[in-house]
Amino acid sequence: MEFGFTEEQEKLRKELHDFYATELPEDVSGVPALSRELQDFWMDLQRKAGKKGYLAPGWPKEWGGLGLGHIEVGIANEVEGYWGIAWPDGIGLHIVGPGLHLFGTEEQKKRFLPEISSGEKIWYECFTEPEAGTDEANQQTRAVKKGDKWVINGQKIYITGGYKPDWLYVEARTADTIPKHRGLTLFCVKADTPGVTVTALPCMGGYRANIFYFDNVEVGDDAIVGQINQGFYHVMATFEFERSNTGIAARAKRELQELIDFCRNTKRNGKPLIKDPMVRRALAKMAIDIEVLRLAAWRTAWRFGERKRLGPLDFDLTGFFSRLNAYTHPNLKMDILGAYGQLPMGSKYAKLDGAIERGWQVTRSYHYAGTMEAIKIVLAGRVLGLPRIPAKLHTTIMQALQEKEKQA
Ligand SMILES: Cc1cc2nc3c(=O)[nH]c(=O)nc-3n(C[C@H](O)[C@H](O)[C@H](O)COP(=O)(O)OP(=O)(O)OC[C@H]3O[C@@H](n4cnc5c(N)ncnc54)[C@H](O)[C@@H]3O)c2cc1C
Repeated sequence: MEFGFTEEQEKLRKELHDFYATELPEDVSGVPALSRELQDFWMDLQRKAGKKGYLAPGWPKEWGGLGLGHIEVGIANEVEGYWGIAWPDGIGLHIVGPGLHLFGTEEQKKRFLPEISSGEKIWYECFTEPEAGTDEANQQTRAVKKGDKWVINGQKIYITGGYKPDWLYVEARTADTIPKHRGLTLFCVKADTPGVTVTALPCMGGYRANIFYFDNVEVGDDAIVGQINQGFYHVMATFEFERSNTGIAARAKRELQELIDFCRNTKRNGKPLIKDPMVRRALAKMAIDIEVLRLAAWRTAWRFGERKRLGPLDFDLTGFFSRLNAYTHPNLKMDILGAYGQLPMGSKYAKLDGAIERGWQVTRSYHYAGTMEAIKIVLAGRVLGLPRIPAKLHTTIMQALQEKEKQA
């Protein structure tokens, strides 16, 4: 494995850093788009980056990308992570776009990919339902063919996004099959189609999720992505793109560096925090964890580049480490800051602009694209070859839990 980067690759890194250093004011970098003003700012920046091909550097030039390889895409992700960028259309870029590349018709590619890579549109991913989260195959939202239309009815929950979406990427049941995951299909639904309504679902940490309702929403055959009843497999294939991000480690590294600087410059009981052995131990642990995540992410990017056959070890291992860090690091950071750690962004006495408190809140619900337990099950079964819990025992456990819940 080659751990270094070529001259060309370093040139790309510099070009991207220069672009964001010019376009992104220091006090906006990494700040979530919680206000209208910030949303407009991020939307503008998304369009500017799109014009340069930076949003989708790995896509072919004909679809608005730069036609770059996986290592270069890893570099672009690292730079975005460093600058704390969360594109308004992350779903279009990382879920819908790859899905259309793999399974879309030529018509769909022509229609949607340039709009996504130029940063003009916003997509939301509508998969999760009240009874279908980890058990994604249990989706009950239905699409029924009537004449030349598909009629969609149902409800989707925890759909991330504080912007106004243009398109919804909806998974719906099109057949009652056993197993359940063989009866799901993917649809592109215009967000303002009659029958689509939305309710805001404010979440911890200030970000917004949504509940979408579909009430006799009509779409044509041209809305279907890939094959009918193959939606679950198509989603699994595109989720793999969502999990190969090198940017998470880059962001974590920058935030840790800011905390280290803070510890160097802040005294407690007359001594710089950095001299405290407990603080040093916590900082060292986080640095090691982040390095492990960084290397795992680069291993995946490298294997992509080598056209190796990728599997759960590549995607779920980075997912596992990023979630593990997300759960454990905010606690360590809170401990370092002491009582100041609980002060939110905007508070007069908050340290590091309240980022530690907000990070703690956000990461309590950090399980988009699969919870830690779900990832552990995949790693245990598909990587370590451990047996699944027998169905009968699983049912017994679930019944016992439900019984306990009733009694409580
Ligand atoms: C920040 C965030 C953003 C999201 N964005 C989107 C989005 O844009 N679009 C979208 O469609 N969805 C989105 N989701 C939903 C997300 O995909 C689901 O929350 C996730 O799949 C888990 O489903 P659930 O919340 O229903 O939890 P459940 O599936 O009900 O799980 C509850 C708990 O039980 C555990 N559990 C479940 N099954 C098992 C099992 N078999 N063995 C052991 N433990 C188990 C889980 O790990 C979890 O701890 C988002 C969620 C979050 C938190």
